[in-house]
Amino acid sequence: MGQHTSAALKLEPLAAQEPPIRVMALRALAYCERLFYLEEVEEIYVANELVYAGRTLHEEAFRQDGLEPRSFEMSSERLGLVGKVDAVRHRDGSWVPYELKRGRPYRAKDKSPRAWPADALQVCAYGMLLEEFTHTRVKECRVRYDAEKVTVRVPLDEDARAAVLMAVHRARHLREATERPPITRDERKCVRCSLAPVCLPEEERAYEHDGWDTIRLFPAIPDGRVIHVTRHGTRIGRSGETLKIEERDVEKRVFPIHDVDCLVIHGYGQITTQALMLCAAHNIPVHWVTAGGRYVGAFSGGAGPVQRRIRQYMALSNPAVALDLARRLAHAKVEGQLRYLLRATCKHKPRTESVMSAVERIRRRLKDIAHAQSISSVRGYEGDGARAYFRALPHLLGHDVPEAMRPKGRSRRPPRDRFNALLGFGYALLNRSVLQSIIAVGLEPAFGFLHQPRTAAHPLVLDIMELFRVPVWDIPLIGSINRRQWDTEQDFSVTRDRVWLSGSGRKKAINLYERRLEDRWKHPVAGYSLSYARTIELEVRLLEKEWTLKKGLFARARLR
Ligand code: SF4
Repeated sequence: MGQHTSAALKLEPLAAQEPPIRVMALRALAYCERLFYLEEVEEIYVANELVYAGRTLHEEAFRQDGLEPRSFEMSSERLGLVGKVDAVRHRDGSWVPYELKRGRPYRAKDKSPRAWPADALQVCAYGMLLEEFTHTRVKECRVRYDAEKVTVRVPLDEDARAAVLMAVHRARHLREATERPPITRDERKCVRCSLAPVCLPEEERAYEHDGWDTIRLFPAIPDGRVIHVTRHGTRIGRSGETLKIEERDVEKRVFPIHDVDCLVIHGYGQITTQALMLCAAHNIPVHWVTAGGRYVGAFSGGAGPVQRRIRQYMALSNPAVALDLARRLAHAKVEGQLRYLLRATCKHKPRTESVMSAVERIRRRLKDIAHAQSISSVRGYEGDGARAYFRALPHLLGHDVPEAMRPKGRSRRPPRDRFNALLGFGYALLNRSVLQSIIAVGLEPAFGFLHQPRTAAHPLVLDIMELFRVPVWDIPLIGSINRRQWDTEQDFSVTRDRVWLSGSGRKKAINLYERRLEDRWKHPVAGYSLSYARTIELEVRLLEKEWTLKKGLFARARLR
């Protein structure tokens, strides 16, 4: 501030379709340019408890303080700004805008209270809008800090006006950019930032600085719950802001929509248009899985902002980027399979010949993947490693496991034995979890890098699933079979050429899967513990970072 005068700074007029900048967005810009970009350009808003607390405050605190909240919206084409001031007051012949903050003021060296720079910029922008609105000169603005019940004055002088104009200019420039600005250098800001779970600044710092003591800003568990509807004839309707689920002979269940993360309908449950609209309005995806466990598709709200998809297309259209990601992904998957085989057989002394031959083959394929020169070679090596892994899987089952639960090779559509029916059902649930994370992050599920768009399945979903098949489903499934948790008659429907899960089998599999998603583990890149449900989303966000300045974070997690 101070190098420019407001008179010397000229703003270009807004183009016909260009919306004005919100004053709140200018505040975000002053706080952190990345925050401004995520909110204004990518339209990501996550209200944390501080934001909710702030809203309540606005409704009560002014009155407690004898100030009448006269909040109204003002806009100016000349400034390219729009905003809603918290309150205005006419004092000593001039209008004064007031902004209310719940926190404490900044303390100068002499301990006098001052406005924080972002707050000062915001209230001065309101002051300049108020001038246009009232056709009078505003000389001063005020910020009220509720935590200390103190009001500080902010002069609307030449420096302040220049700062507002420069911020508008910078905001308009950033709105045109397709690259996210870098994270702030002041990590203290991130602790209070509602978009930290999207931005992942600590994960970038941990990657850049060895020994960085990461603060977990990413939620360890999902906010809402996944509702599975498994019985035929179930009806899902809406009552106000709740979903109500009615099943024959079962008491009606009611879920407030804010507690729901997603809805999964297995088989032929009916959902009303009203319930679908409620889900769409709250960005709650609805997934359909056949009774046999095949993932059919999903319904989700708006397409989301396009910038993330443009960056994804640009990055994955580059053959070198796609090959690098494919190699890392395949390596992570195959190494996970190898580690599991070794871990699960560490007490077998010596390991059986079949396991050892699978281990040797997988080790060779890991070396091949690291040097593969094309994505089709990566696919070939990965596929060969996977075949060796599946051949070894029956050797991980205990001697007392009934013959009916042992796999007869790998069969998918349809599954020909109980083991494959369970494997396929769990992978369909995993498909749902991964697709949901991809939608939440705003990426295009149809555009991947290892899988080809040949089947109805989304290639990017299949790509990300590779990281989680072993830890999220193979391990708990084999554990449950070894614990004899499956009833070979009750839990399966067996016909001459196919095997499906029965109603009781589906319920058991869903419980096993959902419990696994809640298990926590320490993510090696992030350096903190989080649930598998959150790990899937974290990994999708780390993938996105591959083309938003920070490479090398994706697919680094390994089974221990
Ligand atoms: S988390 Fe930190 S770097 Fe990211 S937007 Fe928020 S303040 Fe900026």
